[in-house]
Amino acid sequence: MGASQLAPTVCFVATYQEDNVLRSTEVVIIGAGAAGLMCALTAAGRGRQVLLLDHANKAGKKILMSGGGRCNFTNMYTEPANFLSQNPHFCKSALARYTQWDFIGLVAKHSVPYHEKKLGQLFCDNKSSDILGMLLDECDQVGVDLRLDTSIQQIEKLESGYLLQTTLGQVQCQSLVIATGGLSIPTLGATGFGYQVARQFGHELLPTRAGLVPFTITDQLKELCGELSGTSVDCLVSCNDQSFRENILFTHRGLSGPAILQISSYWQPGDSIEINLLPDHDALGWLQQQQAERPNSELKTLLGEIFTKKMAGLLADHWFVSKPMKQYTPTELADVAQKLGSWQLVPAGTEGYRTAEVTLGGVDTREVSSKTMESLKSPGLYFIGEVLDVTGHLGGFNFQWAWASGYAAAQYV
Ligand SMILES: Cc1cc2nc3c(=O)[nH]c(=O)nc-3n(C[C@H](O)[C@H](O)[C@H](O)COP(=O)(O)OP(=O)(O)OC[C@H]3O[C@@H](n4cnc5c(N)ncnc54)[C@H](O)[C@@H]3O)c2cc1C
Repeated sequence: MGASQLAPTVCFVATYQEDNVLRSTEVVIIGAGAAGLMCALTAAGRGRQVLLLDHANKAGKKILMSGGGRCNFTNMYTEPANFLSQNPHFCKSALARYTQWDFIGLVAKHSVPYHEKKLGQLFCDNKSSDILGMLLDECDQVGVDLRLDTSIQQIEKLESGYLLQTTLGQVQCQSLVIATGGLSIPTLGATGFGYQVARQFGHELLPTRAGLVPFTITDQLKELCGELSGTSVDCLVSCNDQSFRENILFTHRGLSGPAILQISSYWQPGDSIEINLLPDHDALGWLQQQQAERPNSELKTLLGEIFTKKMAGLLADHWFVSKPMKQYTPTELADVAQKLGSWQLVPAGTEGYRTAEVTLGGVDTREVSSKTMESLKSPGLYFIGEVLDVTGHLGGFNFQWAWASGYAAAQYV
């Protein structure tokens, strides 16, 4: 569901609980995910009275699911260039004030064992629950009041602060932080709530779309993808002036794997992507060299030395007639080189929010302070984490944004 389809205001639901008492607190944070937990523990650590609300029955469900159950909690090489936004400078200040090293320090303080998997990506040695447990421990130590299974029905601006109607009763606060994330994976609790609140208080929303998501293929290539399902190959994948060198994974639906997930964030419907299956070679030069040095070898056999035999055979069946190298004309060789070195394809679409790791777009950061994360439209209202139009590359960057933006807001709420 795109943000444009959401209702313009938060609706009033007139069914309160019997005990509709008025609670008063300094800070309410809606969303006990990565950003909300970090904001809560930091603000309460500053001595602020914090109520953290979530409609789910568990905090941090995405943390638990992340990194294949091992939570890729940050990246050692985090830089602003690892983030997509219509306003690329916005993330710089928060990322500089709470860095990957700060989070690594917290992880070390809790003796959570971790390792670098590749490319600066830090994962838990054991389980993602180590990270969630650490955040919940920190919240507990500083007295964060965490309430799960709580829905927010209405938000009203007071002269100073906000009044919330919730299934917990009425809650009044000085600062209200929206940390409800994006639309990705509704089964993990994702809703468009943050966008509704933003719109209610006069914010512009940038169109949302699924990011870090597999592509679906529906044309004749679907058969090839299906036959190669489960095969992973090191490639250079490019689209719209961006390139990623990592593995691609063939699936029954189309293409996945880290390189595909990365490029999906830069892809718009109708765009073609280019896959270089021989990223370590100049494809034509390599083929010409093979022709000169091994004229009697079949192309299929030579490709089988780079890819799996099965993949080499299928590529040959789909793309060219395999024969001894000496039999290829220069034009045929150039055609094979074109296919291997710059395979062009137009994905039918993506798997959408059902499997996307992130949501691109969202609350326009030009209307939010990059120092405090406070709304420039409604004082005392803050937006942090994925609900903002800041989206990281694959590799721990999205959590680092959640930690950094949560920490930044926590200094001012
Ligand atoms: C399967 C998967 C794996 C991932 N792996 C990684 C990884 O390894 N490394 C990485 O950096 N990033 C990863 N990500 C991305 C990362 O999880 C998100 O970018 C990050 O969780 C965003 O943090 P957030 O706090 O803004 O939102 P979320 O973590 O999504 O938290 C939002 C919270 O708000 C609550 N909420 C939503 N709507 C309402 C409402 N109406 N009322 C009350 N509460 C509400 C939700 O229940 C949730 O608890 C992964 C994402 C997915 C889906």
